[in-house]
Amino acid sequence: MKCPKCGSTDVSVQFITETQLKEQHHGIFWWLLIGWWWIPIKWIFFTIPALIVKIFAPKRYKMKTIHRKMAVCQNCGKSWQV
Ligand SMILES: [Zn+2]
Repeated sequence: MKCPKCGSTDVSVQFITETQLKEQHHGIFWWLLIGWWWIPIKWIFFTIPALIVKIFAPKRYKMKTIHRKMAVCQNCGKSWQV
């Protein structure tokens, strides 16, 4: 591997693991099948609030792991994604 900045071949490659907490959004099929009636019903029965929402529509979170390969030039210090 060659450094794009200085042309040196003294480049070390590191693996970086990132974790992101991603909120899952409802898809188009959810809106077609459930969303259009569920939202008004949710508002009508607003007096029975968070409990039902928590049981039937819990906020789903998805852990997303990103594996990145980073190269660092030992000569000039430039780092870039491989
Ligand atoms: Zn370099």
